[in-house]
Amino acid sequence: MGTYITEVIIAYLDENVHPLPLGSRFVTILSMKWHQKLIGLLALVLITVPPIIYWLLATTATYSLNLSSILLLLGKLVALMGIILFLVNPILSMRHAVVVRIFGSLDMLYTLHKHSGKLSFFLILCHPLLLGSGRLLSGDSLLDMWSWTSLLIISGVVSLLLISALTAVAIYAHIKHQNWVKIHRMFGWAIPLVLLHAFIAKGQIYQLAPLRFYIITLGVLGFSAFIYRSVLSRYLVKRYRYRVEEIVAERGNVTGVTLKPLATPLSYIPGQFAFVSFMQDDLSSEAHPYSFTTANNGPYIQFGIKGLGDDTRELSQKLRLGSPAFLEGPYGGFTQLSVKNKKQIWIAGGVGITPFLSMARALNTEDQEDITLFYAAQQKVDAAFLEELHDIAKIVRPFFKVFIVDEKISGFVSTTMIQDTMGSITEYDYLVCGPPVMMRSIVGQLHKAGVKKTQIHLEAFSM
Ligand SMILES: Cc1cc2nc3c(=O)[nH]c(=O)nc-3n(C[C@H](O)[C@H](O)[C@H](O)COP(=O)(O)OP(=O)(O)OC[C@H]3O[C@@H](n4cnc5c(N)ncnc54)[C@H](O)[C@@H]3O)c2cc1C
Repeated sequence: MGTYITEVIIAYLDENVHPLPLGSRFVTILSMKWHQKLIGLLALVLITVPPIIYWLLATTATYSLNLSSILLLLGKLVALMGIILFLVNPILSMRHAVVVRIFGSLDMLYTLHKHSGKLSFFLILCHPLLLGSGRLLSGDSLLDMWSWTSLLIISGVVSLLLISALTAVAIYAHIKHQNWVKIHRMFGWAIPLVLLHAFIAKGQIYQLAPLRFYIITLGVLGFSAFIYRSVLSRYLVKRYRYRVEEIVAERGNVTGVTLKPLATPLSYIPGQFAFVSFMQDDLSSEAHPYSFTTANNGPYIQFGIKGLGDDTRELSQKLRLGSPAFLEGPYGGFTQLSVKNKKQIWIAGGVGITPFLSMARALNTEDQEDITLFYAAQQKVDAAFLEELHDIAKIVRPFFKVFIVDEKISGFVSTTMIQDTMGSITEYDYLVCGPPVMMRSIVGQLHKAGVKKTQIHLEAFSM
């Protein structure tokens, strides 16, 4: 073992701890991996591509082969593509269980949402530029190529300005996350404007009945998704009611919060997370994602929350016993149960320990896993839940080991450290959760050391 590892805890099984067996429903969700990603992409392609092909088949014959005509054609094509993506986007970010299931994971959905949002903006921006260029080439002047005071042009200009301003904020503004979300949600109000513009233009979207039906359906779905998530979420989104039962100051500026269910408890897989909002006058009610630290083997749920920003810092100072809490979820597929290889190395950085604590609490001897946790903290004294891990020290001997890495002494967890400690690198699957810089560092090293992409499983604490 390398000298940089300052403490080793070997965990043993406490015979009294028997996590509840997980229902098959959950195991099915967890088996969603690369093929689910493919299904997600395929779903997006199936929603967006057929109407475009239909439009091309129905339209291109009516255009002649001169530059102005081609520009006009492209102008309308980009509008159709941009509108479709624009209407799909609120569905991707609505966080509904069915949508998450179709697309595989929340991560996947947010990634698609981000890219399709940018693409949609680019296409919508190209629409007037291409149409205008086509008109200019065909001999129109800037002043008379459009009727500038018509509802068609006003709705188009207002939509474009609104979408441009919101996109600029979404991409470039460095503002508080909650304000960013509030502004981002205004995209939804542009949906009726965009549809109004598309239909009063009386182009092919209006003239071709199947396309008209498709766009109206997508518009209704997209707008409903926006209302569901951003306007009436308080009434429509399923949330589980809890009450703060215990608050414990853990090491490393982490607050351990235990919640008691007030109605049906939420069921989850160790390693997953929920969006949690605390209802207390002097705290923001914004829902934040936190990983469960409990193992879903009882009604109580715990979280370990680190004061990293405004809301989490306030929470650590002001949260009171008895305050109501709402939980939405569960989400995520970061768990050892979804990893076939039973030889696993878990790497946690700081508060990234939380999903591992949940998984560690759910381990049992029957699974005979070979799991080693490298738990890196800025200093050993900052390692939250160290005692908890000591308690789990009664769990699962010899299938679970924990190494505490003091970053002040040894720096981030490295492949050299793993090689020295484990004697091998490539035979393991890796589960990693910690600060982005630490994750980038270790993932880069693992790739270099010959660990395949499919052997690395990540949970980023950012969306
Ligand atoms: C899947 C997941 C699991 C997490 N688990 C834990 C955990 O177990 N313990 C823990 O301490 N932290 C966890 N986090 C991080 C935690 O959510 C953020 O630290 C917290 O939301 C910061 O809020 P803030 O207002 O204090 O800070 P801010 O300064 O407002 O935000 C800091 C950063 O946190 C993210 N963030 C803020 N608010 C939200 C929000 N409402 N939704 C999504 N992201 C947001 C943004 O990336 C933002 O840039 C997790 C994050 C994710 C994505």
